[in-house]
Amino acid sequence: MYDIIILGKGPAGIQASLYAARAKMKTLVIAKDWGSLEKAEKIENYYGVKSISGIDLLKSGVKQAEALGVEVIEDEVVGISGYDQVEVNCLIGKYEAHALIIAIGSARKKVHIEGLTQFEGRGISYCAVCDGFFYKNKKLVVLGYKDYTAHEAYELKPFTEDITILTNGNPLSLSEETKNLISGMTVIEDKVVEIFGDEKVRGARFENGKTISFDGAFVAYDSASGSELAMKMGLELDNQNIVVDEHFGTNIPNVFAAGDCLGGFKQVSKSVGEGAIAGKSAIEYVREKKKTL
Ligand SMILES: Cc1cc2nc3c(=O)[nH]c(=O)nc-3n(C[C@H](O)[C@H](O)[C@H](O)COP(=O)(O)OP(=O)(O)OC[C@H]3O[C@@H](n4cnc5c(N)ncnc54)[C@H](O)[C@@H]3O)c2cc1C
Repeated sequence: MYDIIILGKGPAGIQASLYAARAKMKTLVIAKDWGSLEKAEKIENYYGVKSISGIDLLKSGVKQAEALGVEVIEDEVVGISGYDQVEVNCLIGKYEAHALIIAIGSARKKVHIEGLTQFEGRGISYCAVCDGFFYKNKKLVVLGYKDYTAHEAYELKPFTEDITILTNGNPLSLSEETKNLISGMTVIEDKVVEIFGDEKVRGARFENGKTISFDGAFVAYDSASGSELAMKMGLELDNQNIVVDEHFGTNIPNVFAAGDCLGGFKQVSKSVGEGAIAGKSAIEYVREKKKTL
């Protein structure tokens, strides 16, 4: 059991962890990779640093955090839940904490298929745990080709046996650990060119002219984004961005968020500032909670 779990080891997450560790919080940072800054060849607009590559700045931040006792692990988050105590479900492990800081950056990969956004809320969903219940014994498809896709498909299994994975032209790419989650499900690797329907979604058309009919489609492309995780926990969103107050707290008292996942000016300086405040707020929350234990 951790005091604070932080999702993301970018500038927002690591800055939050520096304050948490110095306040003697048992702190875990979970990240699947280096995030968006890894691709930045040179950063020349960050206070006090004339010029540095993105990866060097990131590695230096993680080293600084680890030296303070922060545990930084590589794993991909597929779900978050809980209220008083937060549970983080990853591809490899499951972790618990008194407080959570979401600093997982902005979603990079978007899927562009004609009709997809048109049927959002009318049969197209981005959260299996939120909407699976509405599809008891219905025919469902899950759009995606990675581990997160398999986890979302698995979440739908209690509701229906009729689940097909549509990889949209990508080869299915699953780790050994997740392969068994989709056993018994059909996988179609053809490219999807259109999602169609009337007042509700009805099916999809492939590039080869064939069609498939279904009652609902769940989109789980690439990995879980901030907004997708937020939906699983019932966090307030404003157009894919997590909504926070001036303390970087969300509508759930022990969940905080910082950085690019809040939208706005996507820069290191903003993420670092927000991470610092989210870290401070999470520390205060945990200290208050421990007084009551
Ligand atoms: C090419 C490029 C150049 C840039 N140049 C500059 C620049 O010169 N100056 C500047 O100020 N800004 C620059 N930026 C913007 C800057 O990179 C971002 O604003 C900043 O990194 C955001 O920090 P963050 O901590 O919010 O998110 P990120 O740095 O994106 O970190 C997100 C973290 O979350 C993790 N994560 C995401 N999803 C999951 C999941 N499902 N499970 C587990 N972990 C997950 C990632 O692995 C990563 O560790 C650039 C961005 C790009 C792409």
